[in-house]
Amino acid sequence: MEKPHALLIPFPAQGHVKPFMELSYRLIDRGFKITFVNTEFNHSRVVAASSDHSHIRLVAIPDGMAPDEDRNEVGKLCDGIFRVMPRALEEMIRDVNESDDDKITCIIADASMSWALEVGRTMGIRGAAYWPTSVGLLALILHIPKLIEDGVIDTDGFPLKEQIIDLSPTLPAMNTAHFFWLHIGEDPTAQCSFFRCLNHINQAIKLDNWILCNSFYEMEPSACDSAPNILPIGPLLAGGRPGQLEGNFWQEDSTCLSWLDQQPAHSVIYIAFGSFTIFDRRQFQELALALELSGHPFLWVVRPDLTDGLSDAYPDGFEARVANRGRIVGWSPQQKVLAHPSIACFLTHCGWNSTMEGLSNGVPFLCWPYFVDQFVNRTYISDVWKVGLGLKPDSGEIITKEEIKAKLEELLGDKGIRARSLELKVMARKSVGGGGSSSKNFNNFIEEMKLEKC
Ligand code: UDP
Repeated sequence: MEKPHALLIPFPAQGHVKPFMELSYRLIDRGFKITFVNTEFNHSRVVAASSDHSHIRLVAIPDGMAPDEDRNEVGKLCDGIFRVMPRALEEMIRDVNESDDDKITCIIADASMSWALEVGRTMGIRGAAYWPTSVGLLALILHIPKLIEDGVIDTDGFPLKEQIIDLSPTLPAMNTAHFFWLHIGEDPTAQCSFFRCLNHINQAIKLDNWILCNSFYEMEPSACDSAPNILPIGPLLAGGRPGQLEGNFWQEDSTCLSWLDQQPAHSVIYIAFGSFTIFDRRQFQELALALELSGHPFLWVVRPDLTDGLSDAYPDGFEARVANRGRIVGWSPQQKVLAHPSIACFLTHCGWNSTMEGLSNGVPFLCWPYFVDQFVNRTYISDVWKVGLGLKPDSGEIITKEEIKAKLEELLGDKGIRARSLELKVMARKSVGGGGSSSKNFNNFIEEMKLEKC
């Protein structure tokens, strides 16, 4: 009998490739064969950063950008994707089906790449969307057509005036100036492209596909109820199996785990800002000095491009002064770090994956959002779930070392935040455990996919 064969295609960014990789392994556990589509640019990074990829067929298609163009320019990336990827995907599916006895039976596409579901539909292949960020954000995107119809925003996503709007009786009120698609930088053209990409998600909904979400019902009940085809299946945390391909763009430095083993319980500040965040010299130094001033042990992820190419970003003598209690790595095994008993708190950019990982491990957050959805996630963390604190910039828009140190002390001393973090950890684990809401949703999804042969 033919195996069910799923093709997975994430949006080409680290915070999407990793959760898609984890979903692939969950499908493999249920008897699926997997073909995983990266852009050529990301494919070479994933292969270079990993040693084992035997269980998953990794394939690559172009993203429409020149080899040396900056993939962090999200607007340009979205344009390139629309221009070249649909046709390239169609050709790739034909090639796979010609060479493989198990034909592709379903496509699971990033919700922001729902054109891939249209490609599948024209080829007679069923599909589902996967949305690896918050359901609250998805609910807002689903309101976009109505916001345009009501004259709240124009067709490029720009608010016609600043106002507070109630999207639905069950979702928090929102200021139109804070819509997350307005926060990807200064360039209005890039913003339009990004908005167009997001608005495509509404087609995924119209196509009557499931939209799997990396969240759980109990955490975002009203958002989950905002459309009938939203199916929360999270938190899907990466890294459960030995030798698993993680989909990292940078090579993990796992030596920090044995360093963590030597630290007292709940003593270490973990600092990581995901894959996009860039710091200028002044702000980077202020953070370094805050860590020095705090006196706590710390593990800090300083990605090779975190300071945008500065070769001497650290304050003079900093590394030598903190060598006995600080560890700096280029890319960490983050999920394992956050699960480590020595971790006291997480200074984070509030990317959704980082948020889910911290939350599932009961780790309190100090929030430092950088762009797009991260501001919404910060609001969830500090105001809705109350498991963390925010940082306030000074009048020159700098987050000072004094502010960071003071908030770290406040966070570490706040017993209420720690207790709530542990409650959410239990809720998160329950949702993916036997009989939990996410686990039931995932089982139903798998049964349906298998029954209808996708
Ligand atoms: N991550 C990691 N090692 C690091 C930093 C981040 O493995 O040193 C992972 C992290 O666990 C998460 C992903 O990279 O799964 C980042 O996704 P997120 O949504 O948090 O942020 P983004 O990179 O999209 O801004």
